[in-house]
Amino acid sequence: MSTHDRCDKCNKLLIHPMGNGLSPYLLVGETPGYHETIQGLPFAFQQKHSRTSIAGDILKAELLRVGIVLSTVLVTNLWRHQKSYVTETIGKKSRQVEACPLSYHLDHLARMFIDKTHVLLMGSAVTQALLDVKYTQVSGLNVKVSGFSKVRFWVSPNPALAFSQPVGELRLAFQRFSEDISKKKK
Ligand SMILES: [Zn+2]
Repeated sequence: MSTHDRCDKCNKLLIHPMGNGLSPYLLVGETPGYHETIQGLPFAFQQKHSRTSIAGDILKAELLRVGIVLSTVLVTNLWRHQKSYVTETIGKKSRQVEACPLSYHLDHLARMFIDKTHVLLMGSAVTQALLDVKYTQVSGLNVKVSGFSKVRFWVSPNPALAFSQPVGELRLAFQRFSEDISKKKK
């Protein structure tokens, strides 16, 4: 079990990156869910008593198919903790807003890009947040993120989608990301 601590703004448990902090490669998932929060990891894994694969198992297996060992790269989520909502009232209207806004999470994530050469954005929410384009327009492609001209960004589906959708698109994106990394090494 890894150590937790809490968000100083909303008190939710923080999920820290996993893997190799010195790796030049960063993989970014979306929001940590129930299993991720229990395990304290950006992607959760099948436990001994369970026979069900979960998102982390898919991620690990699909990366291995393209020659990337999960523990050698750095993996994080865009959202540092599970989403929490507060009620915001303006005049007579009330609405639910995230206790910690997207900008808070984005600022933290962007700081992690500084020493990376390659970043894989996994899923629609993280793509929308960083590129402001629909993920379907850029999935499997090399994209530019403003402010980080030296970093090569790629977009893939969220690995968890492999449970409900054909896995080909995920494999293609992972393959291209892996090929791009290998090119750089030569
Ligand atoms: Zn928070």
